[in-house]
Amino acid sequence: MRQSAMFFRIHLRATALVAANLCIWGCSPGTAAAAPQLLEVDGVRISIEFADSDFTNGTAPLVAWISRSAGIVAAYYDRFPVKELRVRVSSQSGGGVRHGTTFGAQGAFIRITVGREVTAAELINDWVLVHEMTHLALPDVGPEHLWLSEGIAVYVEGVARVQVGNRSAAEVWTDEVRSMPRGLPQAGDAGLDHTHTWGRTYWGGALFCLLADIEIRRRTDNRAGLQTALRAIARASGGLLSDWPIERVFAVGDTAVGTTVLHDLYASAKDAPLQTDLSALWMSLGIEPEGDSAALRSDAPFAKIRDAIMRAPLDSTPREH
Ligand SMILES: [Zn+2]
Repeated sequence: MRQSAMFFRIHLRATALVAANLCIWGCSPGTAAAAPQLLEVDGVRISIEFADSDFTNGTAPLVAWISRSAGIVAAYYDRFPVKELRVRVSSQSGGGVRHGTTFGAQGAFIRITVGREVTAAELINDWVLVHEMTHLALPDVGPEHLWLSEGIAVYVEGVARVQVGNRSAAEVWTDEVRSMPRGLPQAGDAGLDHTHTWGRTYWGGALFCLLADIEIRRRTDNRAGLQTALRAIARASGGLLSDWPIERVFAVGDTAVGTTVLHDLYASAKDAPLQTDLSALWMSLGIEPEGDSAALRSDAPFAKIRDAIMRAPLDSTPREH
């Protein structure tokens, strides 16, 4: 489940202290690790270390999943955010993809835990690794702005998978209709920079991204969106390998799309509970929840914006998936 998996995900930065802690509960110093498998995806070197290899269906489906996930993120950003990545895979009882953690300070590194009985279908439908790889595209903006890093990862994961045909747009909009209310400010909220609850961090950050995407598209007559801004930020910064003030992140993004949307939205949301009428928002986008799915209407005022969000930008490099 998306919610419970996210709830248990621990997002840490790779400081020496953290690295030391990780080895207390995450490494198996007594076990000789198998030689890493090397992959090249979109010109990126990915080194895969299997801390455990006792998967019922072998490790080949896991290698394919890592490659596919990297391709999804590379397509969204028009190139993978880093040149080299280490992925360490551990097993756990049961099935499915469990949780991941992404580090940047000492080279791009993702630790991910997968159920021993994971199936190929579960790996095809997995969101966790795309989420983790998306973290690689944003500089480290500090713990008080974790909402931005998690919000982008939540928001981009769905859009990126739709853009390569891994999910349908209706499914992702259904998820957003169901989950965005968790990102709304509650009583006592002091703004995104000061309210570090789970809901505000993950879905408050995702709502910030959705609002920014719509507003950039509205102001540019749909010629650019948040994706263009995020590509520029990833390219200029080198992603999670660098530390940037959040203001610089937004300045680079705003410049790329020729608006001040990110700056303005951040100014409204950082120190105060920015309220959003979600029902009105879904209506303007032409998204009508229908049971477990959503109907998409073409006659809504922002229907073209809604559809453009889920389409790869025209200047994207053609890729095979
Ligand atoms: Zn995350």
